[in-house]
Amino acid sequence: MPKKLVEKLRSLIPSNGKKKARKYQRREVPRDQHNVSRSAISEPAKKVLHRLNKSGYEAYLVGGGVRDILLGGKPKDFDIATNATPEEVHDLFRNSRLIGRRFRIVHVVFGREIIEVTTFRGGADANDDDAPARDARKTSEHGLLLRDNVYGSQEEDALRRDFTVNALYYCIRDFTVIDFASGIEDLKNRQLRLIGDPDTRYREDPVRMLRAIRFAAKLDFQIEPETEAPIRELAPLLAHIPPARLFDEVLKLFSAGQGEATYDLLTRYDLLAPLFPETVRALDSGASDTLIRKALRNTDARIAQGKSVTPYFLFAAMLWPALQAEWARRQDNGDPVQPALHAAIGKVIGRQVQSTSIPKRFSGPMKEIWELQMRLPRRQGKRAFATMEHPRFRAAYDFLLVREAAGELEPGLGQWWTDFQEANERDQERMLSQLSSDAPKKRRRRRKPPAQKQVPQ
Ligand code: ATP
Ligand code: MG
Repeated sequence: MPKKLVEKLRSLIPSNGKKKARKYQRREVPRDQHNVSRSAISEPAKKVLHRLNKSGYEAYLVGGGVRDILLGGKPKDFDIATNATPEEVHDLFRNSRLIGRRFRIVHVVFGREIIEVTTFRGGADANDDDAPARDARKTSEHGLLLRDNVYGSQEEDALRRDFTVNALYYCIRDFTVIDFASGIEDLKNRQLRLIGDPDTRYREDPVRMLRAIRFAAKLDFQIEPETEAPIRELAPLLAHIPPARLFDEVLKLFSAGQGEATYDLLTRYDLLAPLFPETVRALDSGASDTLIRKALRNTDARIAQGKSVTPYFLFAAMLWPALQAEWARRQDNGDPVQPALHAAIGKVIGRQVQSTSIPKRFSGPMKEIWELQMRLPRRQGKRAFATMEHPRFRAAYDFLLVREAAGELEPGLGQWWTDFQEANERDQERMLSQLSSDAPKKRRRRRKPPAQKQVPQ
């Protein structure tokens, strides 16, 4: 029986409430039973924790900061949860700013490091008769959480978080780790488990499906079966998420160093389509994803070496199959190569920004990478030097190498450019004259034969 059908049938069998309801119970893990040491926490994060505590507020390190230290890793950033309101936090730190509408939070800025401070949130069961709460916590007709500014207790705050392993709190006063949702157990079993009913939690915020994939790939965790079950069916809900938020999520998905694994998971759970609909359409019509895979592998290797990854390179690769398809379609319709490419670029970007926005500072360079693919083969005369001067040359050259590795082009051109960049002036001239000595045959062929020169009488 097809897998999809089996899943469908399974979802129709009533569970009769037999599902083991998970108990959420507060548990404190003392310092000698965990490995979160103060030295693993950044100075700015400690400063914020101490100042909040000294001012009489509760404050805890929470989320990825605790999770990653417990796993022996290095947190990307530090998030703090407190019972102080955003305004109170803002008053306490001169170097802070109030941000967000959907979630009102405070950023405390220390040079390049930003500490995100959120006020304990509750109201998961906000009483409908309670007008202020209703106003602060708003859901759409699809169950999407539009606003969530009802403050609550620490326990409520823990239970509105996404995964159990993200709901662990570290207290810098007594060095305990506080676990409200058996997150430590899941951490040990390397499992991602949503807190509460997965269907409801994904409907509240479909981005949680992408977060499940991101953490599964980044931490090499399994997605626990009940957390995994509704994803495919609910994946289309991502269409309700603003394109700007999805753009941010795509960047996070592909810049955590496990891009290829992430791509596989997104594909497996039908989550690639809401992010890159045109690409998925091209792939479904038989286009190859080898270039995407090679580019992601390349990106992963760069991240492993501590190098940066540019969003425009990533998007240029992710949208390449869509661009190729549209470009070919236009040429089949009789458009000449160059105008067909320009029109295809416009079309593909125009459609993509309906799913994920692409800020102009990235879409411009992305177009240039694509356009340069046509310029890179033309090297005669001064052209090679002019191309090399182009601000996007390096990215376009990297892209060319990926295309060659993907078997899209005869190997050779990439190596030529590698050599040309490394060569001294004399050797560069030699390389160019070598090209010109190969060229006349072509040129002669292109010059019209005498018959055509004859002007009709
Ligand atoms: P990392 O920073 O490594 O990406 P993180 O878990 O810290 O991982 P953040 O996006 O920084 O992720 O969010 C901080 C915390 O806020 C999370 O650990 C989680 O507890 C909570 N959180 C973030 N996004 C959501 C969401 N969409 N739904 C529920 N809780 C969330
Ligand atoms: Mg974080």
